[in-house]
Amino acid sequence: MQQDQSDITLITATAPVATTTHGGRAKCLQRLVRLEMPVPKTVALSFDAVHRIAQGDMPDMAELLAPFGPAPLVCVRPSSEDPDWGGPGAVLNIGMNDAQYVEMSDRIGQDAAAAIYKRFVQSYAIHVARLDPDEFEHVVEDGAEGLSQVLSAYEDETEEEFPQDPAVQLAEVLRSMARAWEGTTARLLRQAKGAPAEAGLGLVVQEMALGLGRGECGSGVIQLVDSTTGAPRIIGRYLRQSQGRDALERREEALFLERDDRGPSLEDLAPDAFAALKRMTALMRERLREEMQAEFTIENGVVHILDGVRVTRNARAGVRIAVQLAEDGIITREEALLRVEPRALNELLHRQVDPTAERDVLASGIAASPGAASGRIMFSAAEAQASAARGEPCVLVRRETSPEDIRGMHAAVAVLTERGGMTSHAAVIGRGMGLPCVVGVSDFKFQLRGKTLVAPDGRELRQGDIVTVDGTNGQVLAGEPAMIEAAEDDALLTLMTWADDVRDIGVRANADTPADAQTARNFKAQGIGLCRTEHMFFEADRLTVMREMIFADTSPDRAAALERLLPMQRADFIELFRIMQGQPVCIRLFDPPLHEFLPSDRAGHRELAEALDLPLSDVTRRVEALGEYNPMLGMRGVRLGITVPEIYDMQARAIFEATIAASREGAPVVPEIMIPLVSAKREVEIVKTRVDAVAAAVRNETGQDFTYRLGVMVETPRAALRAAEIAPHTAFLSFGTNDLTQMTYGLSRDDAGRFMSTYVQQGVFAEDPFHTLDQDGVGELLQIAAERGRAARSDVVLSICGEHGGNPESIAFCRAAGFDYVSCSPFRVPVARLAAAQLAVRDKIG
Ligand code: PEP
Ligand code: MG
Repeated sequence: MQQDQSDITLITATAPVATTTHGGRAKCLQRLVRLEMPVPKTVALSFDAVHRIAQGDMPDMAELLAPFGPAPLVCVRPSSEDPDWGGPGAVLNIGMNDAQYVEMSDRIGQDAAAAIYKRFVQSYAIHVARLDPDEFEHVVEDGAEGLSQVLSAYEDETEEEFPQDPAVQLAEVLRSMARAWEGTTARLLRQAKGAPAEAGLGLVVQEMALGLGRGECGSGVIQLVDSTTGAPRIIGRYLRQSQGRDALERREEALFLERDDRGPSLEDLAPDAFAALKRMTALMRERLREEMQAEFTIENGVVHILDGVRVTRNARAGVRIAVQLAEDGIITREEALLRVEPRALNELLHRQVDPTAERDVLASGIAASPGAASGRIMFSAAEAQASAARGEPCVLVRRETSPEDIRGMHAAVAVLTERGGMTSHAAVIGRGMGLPCVVGVSDFKFQLRGKTLVAPDGRELRQGDIVTVDGTNGQVLAGEPAMIEAAEDDALLTLMTWADDVRDIGVRANADTPADAQTARNFKAQGIGLCRTEHMFFEADRLTVMREMIFADTSPDRAAALERLLPMQRADFIELFRIMQGQPVCIRLFDPPLHEFLPSDRAGHRELAEALDLPLSDVTRRVEALGEYNPMLGMRGVRLGITVPEIYDMQARAIFEATIAASREGAPVVPEIMIPLVSAKREVEIVKTRVDAVAAAVRNETGQDFTYRLGVMVETPRAALRAAEIAPHTAFLSFGTNDLTQMTYGLSRDDAGRFMSTYVQQGVFAEDPFHTLDQDGVGELLQIAAERGRAARSDVVLSICGEHGGNPESIAFCRAAGFDYVSCSPFRVPVARLAAAQLAVRDKIG
């Protein structure tokens, strides 16, 4: 069967060439032709044609070669739909044979002709005849001698003469490239980069513009921006008497493009050619609406543009390039917003391991909090604090962290835990603090007593050894690889302003401490959506008072301890209100079970007995009595608020007194008070009555008026289902999707890490539901609650404050469900703002 004619297309300004049928490179070359760039003659083979070639159905080679004249000399390059999907390497100089060699020796000199022929024989031998590249290692000579040795090596190994017919050569090259694309390894590699299973490969056959010969000849690449910063700069190299990407591969011999103190430049050598290249690349930028890298050849002083590819870039450069293109009026602001992947901002906002650095991976786990940091491993919070006090950066290593480790986490540069998942303690706190964190690193053997970690390959790490935690991809690396610093530059600020102009869903931050709140403000969060107050009680000076409160036998004793906590809480809130300058602050009343505040080991019990002046046996008995089998489903949240109401009373009073104090100094504060773990309407009624009573008392005592909003955290399935009866009693419903996911699946958020990767690998769960909102199950509960809640009270404010709040997919879900805002850890606020803006832009452009 013959190939269809439309499968072989000479690229002209009007030829039917499309990215979806011929690939991105073919389409780009057509655009360059339309811009009247000096592109050598090029023929595009469609995906269909290449697919048939792989199956042995060759096109009419005479027709394919016709545009290139009687003695063709061409190269073949891959043209897949997305350049990131890869493809076989280009093959140059197809058509070189003995006759060409003779003719070319006359025209451009024997050495140049021999170099071109030799290069082709070698690449044909490796790519088509599949010979080992080592077969040619012994050939060191250039010129005619080297060529003849390479030809002999080819013939010895293949027991065939080197093919002389250009049609045969080209057919074999096409076949090998087509087959390479369809091989299993290549397929898996590109699927890992997001390519569909049936992704096609196009090929372009292009007339060679020789970079070797008489006069000024050579090749190189040029781009107008720096790939790591995005700043305008002429980047690239030119190598005389070379082809392809030699100039980049043999950098030390290559010339700079622009005049440079470090060495000779193309600008000095061939100023006209340099000026032409600069002009053409700028034209590409303007008309292709993208920063492009041009591959070029200079042939006897004349510039040819062989190819244009999108400049590779890191996240930082990506932002700057998009903003600059919009500021230059080349693309719209909306397009600039769409060009930056929200998650890529994580790369900008945190230090990263330099992608070019060697990575010596010790173990892997769940990438729980992005960024990377190196430090000495320390096995307890106290040792981490001591290390920090010595000025030695350290990595806190724990089986899992608990609130007791908070100070150790503050002292550490990164955290590493054996257990846990995306919403376990270390992960949530790590993200909140912007601390790199890898959890669930179960392939390390944690020998906490002996203070060693044993890597799967047997390497043993002791306390004090240096590791690097890469929380962006969940790896623990040996030593200290080079890092790239976080960069919040002007371009990002500009992009964020544009995002805020178009976005139509609010973004707040989850912030517990003044430092978190400051980060939230810096990232322009529109308030605090969740302040977890329990962390405030872990400060050294408060923990003992808190424990006294827990140990109090009578309500007056408890009230006395809380009385001492009150001014501290009040001060916490005043500071938060002050930092947030009138922005809404949603304070969640005390949530965790009380035992989290108690020491768990004997030494701790002894210390506590001493501090409280109680017999050790008393302390041990009380600690045991407070222990629960499944504390996450036990006496916590509103259940504690109802059974030990003095705690919420104290918190409500602290909030109101802080409101009055902060409003006196600045913008009036309207605090939001949120009740956690609600499952029944009556819980809300009871707490509301008490909070209202505290408000009335504070108004009475101070003679000051203030308003506040009381809301409910929807994090049990029952609260979601009963939203209709809860909503009338509440100003807002904020979805705590961490607990809601835990309870909907019946899956402990602290233990999920143990099997989550197996579950995801086997496709039981498409994703870790603690990371990516389960839109089907948990999402259905959200939807039901939102509908029932709104139907019962049309002005009820809806939001999400679980970790999913910073996830672009969850934001899309919440926006579609009519939520008012999302709240996420401070460092994810920019990601959320951009993701929300993209949703609005996509809706607008349809
Ligand atoms: C939640 O459960 O989603 C939540 C935000 O609260 P926490 O993570 O503190 O339980
Ligand atoms: Mg919760």
